[in-house]
Amino acid sequence: SKWVYFFGDGQAEGRADMKNLLGGKGANLAEMANLGIPVPAGFTITTEVCTYYYENGETYPSDLRQQVMDSVKAIETIMGATFGDAENPLLVSVRSGARTSMPGMMDTVLNLGLNDTTVQGLIARSGDARFAYDSYRRFVTMYSDVVLGVDHYHFEEILEAHKEDKGYTLDTEMTAEDWKTLVGIYKTKVKEQLGSEFPEDPVEQLWGAVGAVFGSWMNQRAKTYRRLHNIPGHWGTAVNVQAMVFGNMGEDCATGVCFTRDPSTGENAFYGEYLVNAQGEDVVAGIRTPQSISIAGRKKSGSDLPSMEETMPQTYTELVGIRDRLEKHYTDMQDMEFTIQKDKLWMLQTRNGKRTAAAALKIAVDTCNEGLIDKETAIMRVAPEQLDQLLHPMLDPDAPRKLLARGLPASPGAASGQVVFTADEAEDWVQKGHKVILVRVETSPEDIGGMHVSQGILTTRGGMTSHAAVVARGMGVPCVAGAGEIRVDANAKTMTVGGTVVKEGEIITLDGAKGEVFLGEVPTLQPELSGDFADLMEWADAVRRMKVRANAETPEDAATARKFGAEGIGLCRTEHMFFDPKRIIHIRQMILAEDEAGRRAALEHLLPYQRKDFVELFTIMQGLPITVRLLDPPLHEFLPHTDSEVGEVAKSAGVDVAEVKSRVSMLQEANPMLGHRGCRLGISYPEVYEMQARAIFEAAVEVSQTSGQTVLPEVMIPLVSSRRELELLRGLVDKVAKETFATKGTEIPYHVGTMIELPRACLQAGVIAEEAEFFSFGTNDLTQTTLGMSRDDSAPFLEVYAQKAIYPRDPFQSIDVDGVGEMVSIAAERGRATRPGIKLGICGEHGGDPSSIQFCEGVGLDYVSCSPYRVPIARLAAAQSVL
Ligand code: PEP
Ligand code: MG
Repeated sequence: SKWVYFFGDGQAEGRADMKNLLGGKGANLAEMANLGIPVPAGFTITTEVCTYYYENGETYPSDLRQQVMDSVKAIETIMGATFGDAENPLLVSVRSGARTSMPGMMDTVLNLGLNDTTVQGLIARSGDARFAYDSYRRFVTMYSDVVLGVDHYHFEEILEAHKEDKGYTLDTEMTAEDWKTLVGIYKTKVKEQLGSEFPEDPVEQLWGAVGAVFGSWMNQRAKTYRRLHNIPGHWGTAVNVQAMVFGNMGEDCATGVCFTRDPSTGENAFYGEYLVNAQGEDVVAGIRTPQSISIAGRKKSGSDLPSMEETMPQTYTELVGIRDRLEKHYTDMQDMEFTIQKDKLWMLQTRNGKRTAAAALKIAVDTCNEGLIDKETAIMRVAPEQLDQLLHPMLDPDAPRKLLARGLPASPGAASGQVVFTADEAEDWVQKGHKVILVRVETSPEDIGGMHVSQGILTTRGGMTSHAAVVARGMGVPCVAGAGEIRVDANAKTMTVGGTVVKEGEIITLDGAKGEVFLGEVPTLQPELSGDFADLMEWADAVRRMKVRANAETPEDAATARKFGAEGIGLCRTEHMFFDPKRIIHIRQMILAEDEAGRRAALEHLLPYQRKDFVELFTIMQGLPITVRLLDPPLHEFLPHTDSEVGEVAKSAGVDVAEVKSRVSMLQEANPMLGHRGCRLGISYPEVYEMQARAIFEAAVEVSQTSGQTVLPEVMIPLVSSRRELELLRGLVDKVAKETFATKGTEIPYHVGTMIELPRACLQAGVIAEEAEFFSFGTNDLTQTTLGMSRDDSAPFLEVYAQKAIYPRDPFQSIDVDGVGEMVSIAAERGRATRPGIKLGICGEHGGDPSSIQFCEGVGLDYVSCSPYRVPIARLAAAQSVL
């Protein structure tokens, strides 16, 4: 069978669409050769050989050798040089190349084919002994390190010692004779380390390098990289063997890297860097400062080193021509590597270039407007997750900074402020005109006020779904969670990392998108929501099927949701409306009351607040549907903790402190998440849901009567596990609706439905749908209960789980398709069987996660609901999931 694909001299056996077989690099080299772009001749050994190699005890197919040697011959013919020849030796590079690029993870050998004989030919051909011996020593070092396993530092040591002997400080002071001497010493070192000679035979060198590249597929670095990027081990790597061209043969030689457009801004300007008289690794190594390829680039960078456009105008023009051809051909921004040998331009690589989020957006929209791609392709060119970076202020990439600690990237955006250690202090400081960052071990619902006024939130404990993370994302406040290296001493009002102590009032900066904490202030840049962003969103909206709603309960969140294009509220968590200090007292009083009369007294106080909230929400959402979830939280979230909180409740309820304390201890639960929460509260205290339903319907009538605006309330019952629960509570809601409409003289259409967030509810969805007009999947709780993993406590072990590839991603962030996903599918199917056309949505954190959204499209949900700042991400992801 065919194991080797040749390219060179204007033709190739491979093509760009053969990446699986030839790897990205090999496929694109073949494509360039076919396009007639100057590519040094070479061949690609396929990824199938890699697979064979590992399946057959690290051996090769028997017919590989012949195919490789035939291809070497073909290179010789095209390049007019001969492998191992003393007069005109062919030298080759041997590089890895997987389907997707795995930068720096696998091995490369350059200048292969050099030995004591061929180096003479190289001297003769180049007329430069220093260059030839420099190449030779680079080869011996690289080959020894990569193929023979003799560590690089041995050679570094020898070089340093030699330079010291000679009184040199720079490598450039080394003469041809010096390098020649070193090659000898290097080889002796190899013999000393291995007990055998450095291989002189180029063919032996070639097979050694090929084996090393295949071997590097399974090195630890590569394995780790694959795990992190979800690259399967069975893909394997290809090996590319290609004639060497030299950018370091003199002043008419150069090497460089360029992008068809600016990869950081997306601007349609040729962007790149090059070095005269250098090899590719010198550009990457950063020893010398590279020069801009274009005059415009040089001016922009403020450099006074001449550009390639100035020093090599003809070659530059040729390169610009290739840039235009490659970009048109691939219809996307390309990242290219080139070498100029004695004024001749050679292309060594092209691939779709990595880019920042801002550049991705601009390039997608621009290339579409230029007619290079259609709108659907443009939609696919931006990763939804990337948009997140664009919706929040971000750190000025050019600003200097001092990293203090790392945690989880819990809520994106960048912010600076003075450190405070309690929510109350946050509110005090902000009142006095300061900007603060709230630093807590972890946050709890009472901190909500302080969290709201803070520029950013930093916690030292907790995961991506910890209270701090969820609330911060909802508010659009940057948050770094679980920064475990930081020690917080709330009494001393300090936080300590390593030896650094940060006191209250000192300034820190958070990058919530990266999970980084910096000392001092780092300047930020504001997001731009018009222009390209608005265009791409409009295109996405035109193709998506699913609606996108937001999880919001405050007027600010609702307004943000509208600004980002939400088509309704999919989850209004009413308990979040009670954390305000003026209100929490009443809810505590309600919870702690001994009897119904006590509860009703407290609820009387809450009704006007709730009604006002709903009036505001209905008004802001202008006729869009609003799903209001009745009270759900585990009670411990509301219980008073401190003596002063207990005292306040006692005073307001007119009872003894001791009595309140005894109620508090009675209500303590061992497992509050599975305790007296959700619809269970409504079942045992119907008056609570009755008050909430009244507030909803009175508000609906009020808005409808005063503004004539349509209102679409959807009343949602949480944590239902059986039909009977819903039947009872729906009866209650319907009764309140009827009473309210009769009293007010206006009828408002409304719906009653349920959250599906327990496995039993999924299984019973067929009968539950008899009572439910809609289902909203609460995948936070459904994940917690399906996996039996606490959403608050699982971050530490889920990290280990991810490392061991048990769950590929945190199931609280990205839906566990096999388990939770099947639950959702079952429920959707059974619900629809009972009530065809039942409205289905999702409102857990997963509603804002692109791969979960793709899953939702597959199940045919009607909408996803997510935090306001993720609405654009969801709009784009929903569009991509139908394309
Ligand atoms: C859920 O469980 O997915 C949900 C949306 O509800 P909450 O997060 O408020 O429990
Ligand atoms: Mg829930």
